[in-house]
Amino acid sequence: MTLSSAEFESLMDTIRNFVQKEIVPLERPFLDADFNAVAPQLDALRQKARGLGLWLPQIPQEYGGMGLSLVEHGHVSEALGRTLLGHYVFNCQAPDAGNMEILIEHGTPEQQETYLKPLLNGDIRSCFSMTEPENPGSNPTWMSTTAVKEADDYIITGHKWFSTGADGAAFAIVMAVTNPEASKYKRASQIIVPTDADGFRLVRNTSVMGESGSGWASHAEIMYDGVRVPQTAVLGKEGAGFAIAQNRLGPGRIHHCMRWIGICERAFDMMCDYAVRREVAPGRPLASQQTIQNWVAESRAEINAARLLTLDAADKIDRLGSYAARDDISLIKFYVAGVMGRVLDRAIQTHGAVGLTDELPLAYWFRHERAARIYDGADEVHKRSVARRILHSCI
Ligand SMILES: Cc1cc2nc3c(=O)[nH]c(=O)nc-3n(C[C@H](O)[C@H](O)[C@H](O)COP(=O)(O)OP(=O)(O)OC[C@H]3O[C@@H](n4cnc5c(N)ncnc54)[C@H](O)[C@@H]3O)c2cc1C
Repeated sequence: MTLSSAEFESLMDTIRNFVQKEIVPLERPFLDADFNAVAPQLDALRQKARGLGLWLPQIPQEYGGMGLSLVEHGHVSEALGRTLLGHYVFNCQAPDAGNMEILIEHGTPEQQETYLKPLLNGDIRSCFSMTEPENPGSNPTWMSTTAVKEADDYIITGHKWFSTGADGAAFAIVMAVTNPEASKYKRASQIIVPTDADGFRLVRNTSVMGESGSGWASHAEIMYDGVRVPQTAVLGKEGAGFAIAQNRLGPGRIHHCMRWIGICERAFDMMCDYAVRREVAPGRPLASQQTIQNWVAESRAEINAARLLTLDAADKIDRLGSYAARDDISLIKFYVAGVMGRVLDRAIQTHGAVGLTDELPLAYWFRHERAARIYDGADEVHKRSVARRILHSCI
């Protein structure tokens, strides 16, 4: 979609209003209970958003999405990131958004009909099942889950965990070794597994920072006990699992980083509002303390820098593709995650005890977004790859 800047600004106003008026009020019921408890209200809100054309901002128009560029979607993602449930309401939440992308690019017409269409419609959810407790997720070429051919089928055996949103998902995209003799980047394939298949066993939702969660807001441990699926369930070519996973991560990191910037902006606004209202003595607001002033100024600078860096990376992906932008993608991944951690910490500290309660969204973010420094490549892995390329170019 090519929108004029006035049209895009008007779209952004509509989205910001919708987030504030419709989605933010659902945060408290979500924090007081869990995802499944508010799922019916969220579904109703999804219909409302869809009716306003606020649906699938990351998806091309021919598939029923808004057809935004990565930069435009970045701005939308920031606006949605201001609330805990924004991406879910617009059907652009991880991991479904990434799975939609893969199915659009690599799905057969049959796979698209069975899995992509209901996913785009918001009728089902999905998960991505790659990480294993026994092997380092940072080195996904080292994987124990296998898919062995038997007649026209694969038999999948393995143990996964941290499959986000598996609880209640209709299918999993499972990474499994299909070609053990091939070179290490061509050993694994992505295979679609319906969660009602025999041998698919959701062991538990893993407790993360004390919370097991439910539904989309959970991370499951799963056993694949000899799950039989037809060989037509493979996505793309056999052995192309890593190549497809890499493609999925470029735009996905922009979505995440802009969502984190949305979180930063909300936390920043809350910090400033509280600082001017809370008095440490009659007539002496918290905002008069230099420490608070330093936090406000430092946070403003860091958030602005994070946004510019991320939009620059998104622009590079839009123009040159993910491979050309790989250093930029690594830089934003650890930089923005770090900014978010610091801004949330300052916002909580400014609020004192109430900052630690679930009366505000800050504590939930602090618990769950700590993961930003680990998933989609731990900080250290991104720093290492950027630094090695820089240093190599100096030889
Ligand atoms: C909230 C959350 C959601 C997730 N969702 C999903 C999902 O939907 N699907 C899925 O498949 N997985 C998911 N994951 C898993 C995630 O992808 C892995 O946790 C990640 O790849 C790291 O793997 P690991 O936990 O096994 O850590 P390891 O690979 O064991 O690494 C441990 C630590 O070692 C350090 N390290 C590792 N490699 C290097 C290196 N080369 N140089 C320097 N230091 C290094 C890092 O500090 C790292 O944190 C999720 C994780 C979290 C926390």
